[in-house]
Amino acid sequence: MTSPVDKDSAKPSNFLRHVIENDLQQGVYTARKWGGSPGDAEHHAQGMPDPAKVRMRFPPEPNGYLHIGHAKSIWLNFELAKEYGGVCHLRFDDTNPEKEEQEYVDSIRDAVRWLGYATDLADRPDAAGTVQLHEYFASDYFDFMYRAAEYLIGAGLAYVDEQSAEEIRANRGDFNTPGTDSPFRSRSVEENLARFRAMRDGQLDDGAAILRAKIDMASPNINMRDPALYRIRRATHHNTGDKWCIYPMYTYAHPIEDALEAITHSICTLEFEDQRPFYDWLLDRLAEGGLIESPHPRQYEFARLNVTHIITSKRKLRQLVEEGHVDGWDDPRMPTLAGLRRRGYTPDALKLFCERSGVTKSGGWIDYASLEAALRDTLDPTAPRAMAVLDPVKLVITNWGELMGGDDVLDDCTAPVHPHRPEMGRRTFRLGREVWIEATDYEDVQPKGFFRLFPGNKVRLKYGHVIECTGGTRDAGGKLIEVQAKLVPDTKSGTPGADAIKVKGNISWVAAADALQAEVRLYERLFAAANPGSGELLDELNKDSLVTCTAYVEPSLATAAGGAGFQFERHGYFVADTKAMAGGNRVFNRAAGMRDSWGK
Ligand code: ATP
Ligand code: MG
Repeated sequence: MTSPVDKDSAKPSNFLRHVIENDLQQGVYTARKWGGSPGDAEHHAQGMPDPAKVRMRFPPEPNGYLHIGHAKSIWLNFELAKEYGGVCHLRFDDTNPEKEEQEYVDSIRDAVRWLGYATDLADRPDAAGTVQLHEYFASDYFDFMYRAAEYLIGAGLAYVDEQSAEEIRANRGDFNTPGTDSPFRSRSVEENLARFRAMRDGQLDDGAAILRAKIDMASPNINMRDPALYRIRRATHHNTGDKWCIYPMYTYAHPIEDALEAITHSICTLEFEDQRPFYDWLLDRLAEGGLIESPHPRQYEFARLNVTHIITSKRKLRQLVEEGHVDGWDDPRMPTLAGLRRRGYTPDALKLFCERSGVTKSGGWIDYASLEAALRDTLDPTAPRAMAVLDPVKLVITNWGELMGGDDVLDDCTAPVHPHRPEMGRRTFRLGREVWIEATDYEDVQPKGFFRLFPGNKVRLKYGHVIECTGGTRDAGGKLIEVQAKLVPDTKSGTPGADAIKVKGNISWVAAADALQAEVRLYERLFAAANPGSGELLDELNKDSLVTCTAYVEPSLATAAGGAGFQFERHGYFVADTKAMAGGNRVFNRAAGMRDSWGK
């Protein structure tokens, strides 16, 4: 059966669409009210105008910067919500007080907005009717989570375990061995409640006790062997301060967060597949107790995004930053969204990449080349062109003064801003007696297949005149320091004479009198290893991931604003570095070469 969206070739089908469409058809969620519970006024009060809506969420833990893997998750959740007329929540999963910081909250919010996903959709007006952000903090639900825990205790579904951490680990069993019941498992409801309140009130030391669900110590799924719900941890939380000394475990908190926000489809990566039985167990129990609405959200897993030459482990990314292997979280070589943005990636390029990488149930590695291809495919139709000389050597046109009426005369040349988009206008620059060309465009003796500058050969200075090379000068060390040529009269581009002459070489240049000096940073993949993360991280790094050069660029780039992207003809896609430009330095970062040349 083909659904209507399948026919839209821009949106390849994925299994999640089928799930959502099926749920919408069956009206699965129409009966629901806003999350919360009948007995939970604080959440009901927020109102939920349209309970039938598809409601997704992106739930980052604010303990690091978002990376390209998160972009996939953001894209998937927000796009599905948009496609089905629903909403997507940005929820900070801030249940772990130790590692979370405001800096990360801010950077995550920025990254989501930069990708183009506004969280201010108007279906959650506050009491005064003002539009609220669909931005949520898991820590706002701590009170509810605590009450839900007391409910579970009261229903005989949770107990306070005071075994040591080692005992708990040993008694959990393993894949082949069932677990053993804790001696504390058969405590009375009253005793459990008293001990749990003692945990909450700070009467027990950190680590002295945990609250566990009472499920089945012999379950073949280890996650169902009485998983921990709460632990004692004296730490100041960025939102709740010192109000709590017990904190909910992620596996307990996450399903509740989804339920309170009336999420319909809770999408996560495959590692969480084994957690799904507990997700359902917990929400089924809370729904039975009338604490949350039914039907509750459902979890669906898809394969996480892995890209060759990239790592997405936050811990390892932090190591690169802290040990100074890169210049911060937004280093253009980092796979963080802040880094990719400085590298020249656009939201459109990343979304195209996410779309092309597919949404499946089976993992694998996506080739880094396809990330760059998405960048080229989105920038090629839009990026203004410019000439830049990255490895400059001076070319002197020896007969310039004679033919042009003086050595200082400059000749106006123009070129389209974009070869296929005349509406983008034309750029102008000037040609003079001395121009900068690429040192690699000259050879003393013609190598096979080389049609650029060598003595006796004619080439066109792109958009300018044809010249004939007469020689090159080298210093004592053999380094090329100057190339000489003669102008061939009446050959200027755009004049009838231009068509009369055929040359095989067309070289880029900027006039010495006209050029702007710029620092150009040639970035390459950060890891030489195709599948980094498996060996010693530092050995896997690419030692040549950044080469800096002093370049000359055409004058149209004088007004380039930080973040603006260009195609430097022949060289690839570059972006004006936002940080450097803000500091008054002209710096361009290479986003990607003209074509994939890795390993060549
Ligand atoms: P940690 O290693 O700290 O758990 P995490 O990458 O899982 O880090 P979260 O902040 O928990 O970070 O992730 C937020 C969301 O992004 C989760 O729903 C997670 O499944 C998703 N996500 C993270 N990495 C990827 C990835 N490589 N591909 C797809 N989704 C991802
Ligand atoms: Mg995680």
